[in-house]
Amino acid sequence: MPGAAEMQIHDPLLGVDVERLEREMENYQEWMDQRTEEAYNIASQARAKGLDHSLEVEIPRASDLASRTEKLLVQYLEGAKVADDIRQLLAEFDRETTAIKMATMVSKRFRENGYDLQKSIDVGLRVGLAILTEAVLVAPLEGISEVKLLANVDGTQFLSVNFAGPIRAAGGTAQALAVLIADMIRRELNVDAYKPTDGEVERVKEEFGLYRGGLQYRPPPEEVDTIVRACPVMINGEGDQDIECAGYGRVRNIEGARIRGGVLLVIGEGLCLKAPKVQRHTERLNVPGWDFISTFANKNKEKTKDEKSNKFKSRKVPRISKFMDDIIAGRPVFGAPLEPGGFRLRYGRARTSGLAAASCNAASMAAMNDFIAVGTQMKIERPGKACAITPCDIAEGPWVILRDGTFKQFNTEDAYRKEENEIKMIWDNGEIVLGYGEFMENNKNLVPSGYNHDWWAADLLDGLDSEQAVEDFCRIMVIEKATLPDGIPGLPLNQYEDMHRRFKIRRDWRDFLIAQKPNWDSCKEIAVRFSTSLPPPHNPWWLDLPIEWLPALIQAIETATVRDGNLTFIDGVKGWNAQLMDELRPESEVVLDSENLPGPSIPIEDGIFTDIPPMYWVLRMHGIVKGSALVLGLGHHHDGDDLVITTGWQALLEGLGFSLNGRAPIKIENSEQIFRDRIDSLRKASKILEDEILRKGDLEKKRSAVRIAAETNARQRGCGIAETDRIGNDAAREVADPGPKNPEEYLRSQMLEDDHQVDGIISQIRQISRLRWEHSAPVRIGCRMGRPEKSAPREKPTVHSLFPIALSGGNQRLISNAADQKDLRVQMGIRFCSVCGKKSPMINCHHRKLDSHGEGKPGEVCGGRTELRISTENENSRRRGELQTIRLDNLLEDAR
Ligand SMILES: [Zn+2]
Repeated sequence: MPGAAEMQIHDPLLGVDVERLEREMENYQEWMDQRTEEAYNIASQARAKGLDHSLEVEIPRASDLASRTEKLLVQYLEGAKVADDIRQLLAEFDRETTAIKMATMVSKRFRENGYDLQKSIDVGLRVGLAILTEAVLVAPLEGISEVKLLANVDGTQFLSVNFAGPIRAAGGTAQALAVLIADMIRRELNVDAYKPTDGEVERVKEEFGLYRGGLQYRPPPEEVDTIVRACPVMINGEGDQDIECAGYGRVRNIEGARIRGGVLLVIGEGLCLKAPKVQRHTERLNVPGWDFISTFANKNKEKTKDEKSNKFKSRKVPRISKFMDDIIAGRPVFGAPLEPGGFRLRYGRARTSGLAAASCNAASMAAMNDFIAVGTQMKIERPGKACAITPCDIAEGPWVILRDGTFKQFNTEDAYRKEENEIKMIWDNGEIVLGYGEFMENNKNLVPSGYNHDWWAADLLDGLDSEQAVEDFCRIMVIEKATLPDGIPGLPLNQYEDMHRRFKIRRDWRDFLIAQKPNWDSCKEIAVRFSTSLPPPHNPWWLDLPIEWLPALIQAIETATVRDGNLTFIDGVKGWNAQLMDELRPESEVVLDSENLPGPSIPIEDGIFTDIPPMYWVLRMHGIVKGSALVLGLGHHHDGDDLVITTGWQALLEGLGFSLNGRAPIKIENSEQIFRDRIDSLRKASKILEDEILRKGDLEKKRSAVRIAAETNARQRGCGIAETDRIGNDAAREVADPGPKNPEEYLRSQMLEDDHQVDGIISQIRQISRLRWEHSAPVRIGCRMGRPEKSAPREKPTVHSLFPIALSGGNQRLISNAADQKDLRVQMGIRFCSVCGKKSPMINCHHRKLDSHGEGKPGEVCGGRTELRISTENENSRRRGELQTIRLDNLLEDAR
């Protein structure tokens, strides 16, 4: 085995029986191959019956990208072999580079072998696109409908590539690179660059203006102008939209007046949005004529450079609200983006879960009023767009407020059901368990997890590094050593003979540690001895507690007492009224006198960054003491007018600088001063930030006055729209921005505000308490219910065939309505019967058998297999079909 010392302690493969697992994987692969073989056999037999378009199973089986490419393009390659070359290139280069190299190579080879220019370019381009899309999409076949050589005005020949709708599936990067590949092939084969006429440029602008479909990016006319003029190959296509261009309908090199959707996709989502990717290749490969792409690639960079000049970089986890789009009436939202109360993120994967799936406690499902069931589709904030959901028992359940004011957590569905009718409000949804791989799969940065039992166990695994450490652990936790798992999990690597054994020891210990529920004293001592932080329930949700509440909360704690192991606030909930929770929260809260709030009447600090104290509605309903206990997630109940905190209160005292003197908490740290100082500096920062916003507003007003003057002037001189815009912008830029009054102070204020948003009061807690504190709920995942009925069979009776009747079935597209017209005229492929020779659009000839008089016999059809024949006049007929008339009524009758 490799030297243990060289290995990383945290290497995830350390001690895993890789050999055995690989063997299992191979067996599994073999098993799947066999099943596949069986499935193919069945499919082949079915196909052989001739009821389908093809007599064979079209989907080729391939082992890797190279052979997939070869099989996908078999009809274009005409026997040429490309798989080995692709394999060789892939061994050396990345996929994009391989695609570019392979495309030019194939084109050149075809040309040398005597194929015409058009064919050579066509094949090369498709090979390139196939590699880019991993040869699993139809984009290389259907996304490029045609490659043409057309003539510039000066008589030189240029390359035009027709993109069609299915190119969308290839994605922006492949679309953009397809254009680059076409250009590189064109250069290799000495075809001139495209020199568009004004009409051709204007046509694309008009199309972007008229297009009604969804585009991720719609470039403004000047960008379209730049791209179409500079792009050395023509991005062309067939008109596939219903709208026609009026201004530039008939233009050189462009067929028809309809909008070409493929062109808009490739320019907007491809070249504009993926410019940085294209630029990487054009610069590395020194492709001339692509300088224009840098302007697009740098467009976003300039913005970030602007921000960089300010040296400020936010640490905030970005709020994503996309999942809130298109909310459906009757489908609940379970949490606004990042908002407390929503699901708390926990990393992991339950066995019941799968890809693009998350899990939560069954009690959470029940608490969501059963809107979440197994498999419910949820739209989520991150990492992906949506997920299916399954129940699991590793997630914490929801926290709820009961009618009598009790605040508690339910971790099983049974417990929840028992008290369901007593529940007044769901305060916190509990945890959502998401695999870290989901973040990787969606290409999203990881966001912080709360300090939970998993993290605590991981810290301890390394902390338990000697016999002595294990003994200390036993003493602190008051556990018999005999009940512990075997071994010492944190021993240095070089003290292990057998890595498998180390793996097993650590795994057993991990399971053991995660299940531990230490009391406060043990927890605290463990934290001191092993440098861990505190697992729930000894880790309040500090981040949620507004700093404005703290001076009042600290004052309140000074009057509290400890009774029967709970922290009691006398009159802590005096005047509390459960009915308040039924009322709809008003649009804007009115600040009450502190006497009118439930519980002790201690004045609350004014809001720092907001007009009223943050989360004022909580104060209004519950007062400072109960409000804080709720926000921090501390379990409690009412005893008359007294509030009794049952869980997590020791951590509250520890974090806020209190110790216990018998039954009374006493202040051992001047925590109030620490929070007051922080509040003061935050107020100062808030003022500076506000001033800067005002200053920028004034500057913008001045600029817009100058812009309007300049634009008016330009319009009077008769300048065009683009020209006027430019003159206006230039004039506005002339008004200098001197920047904030004191840039360093401004930067400091920005950072302070940002830190406050990210860390809340935990930085002060760390100052006050000598324990290690980590956030317990740093990130919530906003989510709402999706549309589960989308996946259910809805057609009744169920659909069992598709038949093109165009619009002749009325607005419900009923085939019986269409049949009433007897003759149906629709576009279909042209096929000829191999038995009677007649023309039929069906796979099996639909013509009736003739009786001795030459009349068709109802109910008896020829049934001969038909073959596709592509008519030569219309080269699009294979995809589009041709207008034909069939007797739909007879067809239906015969089918009965
Ligand atoms: Zn026939």
